[in-house]
Amino acid sequence: MPYRHYWITSTRIVTPSAIISGAVEVKGGKIISVVEGDTWQRKARSKHIVDYGQAVVMPGLIDVHAHLDDPGRTEWEGFPSGTRAAAAGGITTLIDMPLNSVPSTISEETLKLKTSAAKGRIFVDVGFWGGLVPENAFNASSLERLLDAGVLGLKSFMCPSGINDFPMTNSSHIKEGLIVLAKYRRPLLVHAEMQQITNDWENIDDAGNPQSYATYLKSRPASWEEAAIRELLTVTKDTRAGSSAEGAHLHIVHLADARSSLELIKEAKRSGDRVTVETCPHYLAFSAEEIPDGDTRFKCAPPIRDTENKEKLWAALLDGDIDMLSSDHSPSVPELKLFNEGNFLRAWGGISSLQFVLPVTWSYGRSRGISLNQLVSWWSEKPARLSGQDLKGAIAIGNHADFVVWEPEVEFELDDNHPVYLKHRSISAYMGSKLAGKVLATFVRGNLVFEEGNHAPFACGVTILAK
Ligand SMILES: [Zn+2]
Repeated sequence: MPYRHYWITSTRIVTPSAIISGAVEVKGGKIISVVEGDTWQRKARSKHIVDYGQAVVMPGLIDVHAHLDDPGRTEWEGFPSGTRAAAAGGITTLIDMPLNSVPSTISEETLKLKTSAAKGRIFVDVGFWGGLVPENAFNASSLERLLDAGVLGLKSFMCPSGINDFPMTNSSHIKEGLIVLAKYRRPLLVHAEMQQITNDWENIDDAGNPQSYATYLKSRPASWEEAAIRELLTVTKDTRAGSSAEGAHLHIVHLADARSSLELIKEAKRSGDRVTVETCPHYLAFSAEEIPDGDTRFKCAPPIRDTENKEKLWAALLDGDIDMLSSDHSPSVPELKLFNEGNFLRAWGGISSLQFVLPVTWSYGRSRGISLNQLVSWWSEKPARLSGQDLKGAIAIGNHADFVVWEPEVEFELDDNHPVYLKHRSISAYMGSKLAGKVLATFVRGNLVFEEGNHAPFACGVTILAK
């Protein structure tokens, strides 16, 4: 933005209390007033005014689950392309996952590699999760150094992650991790799937036609999620008042099973465990029955389940049983998707979505009656709370001026002509679909980072480190 002090006006500004017609005053990167009606015009007479008419002005999205693969696997994504895609999609903050980069972020030293890789190369603000792995789980001082260095919390896996330097943890590792995290009041994020011997085939080659999505679905049934969550909830009891990890917070990432796994989480919440849960747009947009044979763009873990399950996920989100959304943007090079073979069992898993999460959530949600305030709750307010970002996630006085300006009514085709900023457009499962909700502009701490197909000339995002 060429000026430090300006006003943004619109007839649809989404504030925590209501959607107002009025103006937001921005100075030095922060929101300094929010005014309903047109009384702001007197105050703003000599200031710069950006009028967005009837477009929606909302807090920027905070994506708490993205894999940008930088440093070390920048041929998969990288900070520059990933954050440009985020900016084009209205995401103003993203929290980078500790794995799929080389090395994984599991120590103070490896976090330094992340922050130096991000320096001067990010178009939105970026924070970092650290990894909880067997190597550091029983070493409280190593975890403390990682947390002191500024990771916003830790992430662990209850099944193999697919990455050699990021081994899985069991509930004893998680228990130890939670005790350290409790002191810092930062969350533990867990990939909740536990391998079960429920298959009736000897090895993966006997599983059935590997080009059929049904075969992949059968190879990772909902019972894996249920088993992991059942195990996790024996540990989250420690987060209750008066217990050994009081103050700790366990967050279950990308829930796909809306049946027994969800029931277990609801029960734990009712008992006072500090537990939250996210799901992702791909579980809300797609269903297993519709995935074409051999189309490995749709492979992710846990898998996309059936239509009835998808409707239950929507219901849980609308009821508040699922707390928030995240992208789990997890790209790779197209070669690893094995498009020629179409083998679901051997292709790399991960849905590539970062730029599209706002229009996808809106497009599939509007027919189910979602509101703009719900979008803000799932994509901004609750993710801000999870990641400890007190000055983000709401259009309120004193907060960072992080905004997405968008037109919910405008529809567009994600065809070959559509500008896509992800490194590899061909791997995204959303290409070829028709969506509603066009992002006009994105502001990060008052800086206009994206407008009408153009990015700011400078990467003015900053790294976020917990203090
Ligand atoms: Zn992930």
